[in-house]
Amino acid sequence: MSLSQHAQQICDILATLYPQAHCELEFSTPFQLLIATILSAQSTDAQVNKLTRRLFAKYPTVEAMAELSVEELEEQIKGVGLFRNKAKHIAATCQLLLSEYGGEVPKTREELMQLPGVGRKTANVVLANAFGIPAFAVDTHVLRVSKRLGLAQGSTPDQVEAEITALLPAGQWIDAHHRLIWHGRRICHARNPRCGECPLAPHCPSAKTEGEEHDE
Ligand code: SF4
Repeated sequence: MSLSQHAQQICDILATLYPQAHCELEFSTPFQLLIATILSAQSTDAQVNKLTRRLFAKYPTVEAMAELSVEELEEQIKGVGLFRNKAKHIAATCQLLLSEYGGEVPKTREELMQLPGVGRKTANVVLANAFGIPAFAVDTHVLRVSKRLGLAQGSTPDQVEAEITALLPAGQWIDAHHRLIWHGRRICHARNPRCGECPLAPHCPSAKTEGEEHDE
């Protein structure tokens, strides 16, 4: 079986396991998703959602959030990790959105990555989930699960993104991203993957039998 056939087989099984997989960050506009994604670095989606429910109720738009000083933003987001840096980035991003983009979130990766606090992963999340533009974001779950399943060999998110996007048609990137994350959160955990109950086990080169342990 070729690597692309293997990848398709994995994607088909993931589709039956998680037909409803979606972004678990809560948002109602591209701007809110951008802010939520900046906040999500080294924090769980649940922590971010708890915080943004309150934040977006008070400051739902770029215009409203741009009124806040860095110190006021710190006060609003101090429930998440790295909040001082994130406050600086969000304040600067709001100013840039207003001055350069008329208050809109840009729709290209290059423009998004010019915004403070926005790296390639965040840009891909925004492209895919705010605009439906094919992009494949690689977070810690996607990296780990893709490698265990033999879909990628690279050790960095950029390498894994390049491998997976070469393997799958663009129309599958967004769903594959969500489904790999859901599988990583629910079954293929970093420390104790539940291989014994994983429907992908017959196709997974890293499947372990009971008693064996993964290195990560
Ligand atoms: S068999 Fe184990 S290592 Fe492979 S995808 Fe399933 S849980 Fe992860």
